[in-house]
Amino acid sequence: GSSKGTFKVPEIKFTKLFINGQFLDSISGRTFETKDPRSGNVITEVAEGDKEDVDLAVKAAREAFDHGKWPRMSGYERGRIMMKFADLIDQNIEELATLDSLDAGKLFTLGKIVDIPKAANMVRYYAGAADKIHGETLKLSGDLQGYTLKEPIGVVGHIVPWNYPSMMFALKVSPAMAAGCTMVVKPAEQTPLSALYYAHLAKQAGVPDGVINVVTGYGPTAGAALCSHMDVDKVSFTGSTEVGRLVMEAAAKSNLKHVSLELGGKSPLIIFDDADLDMAVNLARMAIFYNKGEICCAGSRVYVQEGIYDEFVKKSVEGAKSWVVGDPFDPRSQHGPQVDKEQFEKVLSYIEHGKREGATLLTGGKACGEEGYYIEPTIFTDVKEDMMIAQDEIFGPVMSLMKFKTVEEAIEKANATRYGLAAGIVTKDLNVANRVSRSVRAGTVWINCYYAFDPDCPFGGYKMSGFGKEQGLHAMEKYLQVKSVVTPIYNSPW
Ligand code: NAD
Repeated sequence: GSSKGTFKVPEIKFTKLFINGQFLDSISGRTFETKDPRSGNVITEVAEGDKEDVDLAVKAAREAFDHGKWPRMSGYERGRIMMKFADLIDQNIEELATLDSLDAGKLFTLGKIVDIPKAANMVRYYAGAADKIHGETLKLSGDLQGYTLKEPIGVVGHIVPWNYPSMMFALKVSPAMAAGCTMVVKPAEQTPLSALYYAHLAKQAGVPDGVINVVTGYGPTAGAALCSHMDVDKVSFTGSTEVGRLVMEAAAKSNLKHVSLELGGKSPLIIFDDADLDMAVNLARMAIFYNKGEICCAGSRVYVQEGIYDEFVKKSVEGAKSWVVGDPFDPRSQHGPQVDKEQFEKVLSYIEHGKREGATLLTGGKACGEEGYYIEPTIFTDVKEDMMIAQDEIFGPVMSLMKFKTVEEAIEKANATRYGLAAGIVTKDLNVANRVSRSVRAGTVWINCYYAFDPDCPFGGYKMSGFGKEQGLHAMEKYLQVKSVVTPIYNSPW
C-alpha cells in the first residue's frame, strides 16, 4: 500500500557550526544544501565546515580539556548536567523527531516514541555512570604498591552516519562526556540538523563551552581533517567499511590517535523448523524493512530451514506487500524514502545485480511514489552465497531468502561473510539456540527477537564490521585511558 501525508516544514533554528559555545558561519562562508528525501527538495542551507573550521573546533575542545572545568569537576557534577541535558531532549522530542524525519526520511511517529526518548535515556545511562569510574589497587612485588587511574582520553572526534542521527549522537557523545572528554562531532552531510539542535540543548543544560563542538560538512574535507588532526586523541567512527579504513589510515599517518570503528554488516537471521511461523515471518520482515533497511545490523540474509521454507516464503511475500510505504510524517506509514538520491540509486542497482546474477525476485524491486526516494520492500530467493547481494551491504529494503537443512549448514552459511555485526536465531530449542549463538562470529546475537537494544548492552562488530563497543560500560572505556601510579611502601630504595 502507500500513504501520503501533509506536513508543513517548520522553521529550522540552527544551521551554523557550533564552536566554543557559539553558532558560527564557516570560515570560508560556504554552505551546503540538506535535502528532504520525500521530494529531493532543499530543506535549508547549512554551514559547510572544512579543515580550518575543524582546527578552530579542536582548539576549543583542546582548551576545554587542558584548562577547562569539565574534566576536572566531579563525575557526580558531570552526571547532573547530563541529566539536565537528557530532560531537555525529552522536552524537545517533537522538534528533534521532525528534524530527523525531514533530513533522513525516518518515521516521525517512531522518532517521537523510539529514537528521541532512547537518545535521552542513553544520556541518562552514562550520566549515572559518570561518578562510578574506578581504577584498581595493586599490591606489587619488591615492597611496591600502586593503583590505576582511569583518565579521560582527551579530545575526541566523533564521526556520525545519517541513518540514526539522534541515537548515534547520544551513543557517541554521552559516554565521552561521562568520561570527562571534550569533543568535536562531525554529523553526516545528509543529516546535519538535529546534531546542531543537541549542541544547543547541551549548552542550555550547562555543558561548558568547548566541551561539545559540532562541525557540519562533508566527509573527505571536515571528516578527514578530524581524523588526521594532531591534537585529536581519539576518533570514534560509525559508517561504511571503506571510510573506516581511511579513518584508520589517517590516524596511523598523523598522531596514532585511538580509533574505534562501527562499520557495515550483512547480518544473518536463522529460522529453524520449530519456530512459530507467524512470529518468524514478522521478525524477518522487521529485521530488514524497519527504517527502510538503513540499519547497520539489518537482518539482510534470512536463512530458513527446509521444513518451513515454502510456507515462510509465501507468508513473507504477503508480509512485504502489506508493508505500508509512504510519507514519513503520515502515521500509517511503515517505511519512508531512502536517505538520498545516491543511496536510492545504489539500492536499485543492487536489485538489478541480483536479477542479473540469477536470484529470483519475488516481490518489490522497484522505486515507488510520484517523487522522492521510495523503494518497494523487496525479496529475493535462490540467492547463492557468492552473489553480490549475499555479500555486500545493500543498506536498503532488500531481503535475501535462503534455505538450509542442518544446524551445521546454518552456522557455516551464517559465517560466510566478511562482516560480523549481528545475528538472529529463531527456535524453541534451547540447545540449538545456545550452540548457534556460540558459533556465529558476530558481536550481538538476538535469540527469538531482533533489534533488542538497551543502553546497558554492548554493541559492536566482529571481523570487518569494526572494533570497539558502543553502549554499556564498555563504550565508556573507549574514552578512558589507564594510568599506573607506583610508590614504595617502606623507605624508598631509590
Ligand atoms: P560513509 O562512511 O561515507 O559516511 C559516514 C560518515 O563518515 C559521514 O559523516 C561522512 O561524512 C564521513 N566520512 C566520509 N568520508 C570520510 C573521510 N574520508 N574521512 C572521514 N570521514 C568521512 O557512509 P555513507 O556512504 O554515508 O553510508 C553508506 C554506507 O555506510 C552504508 O552502506 C553502510 O555500509 C554504512 N553505514 C553504516 C552504519 C552503521 O551504523 N554501522 C550507519 C550508516 C552507514
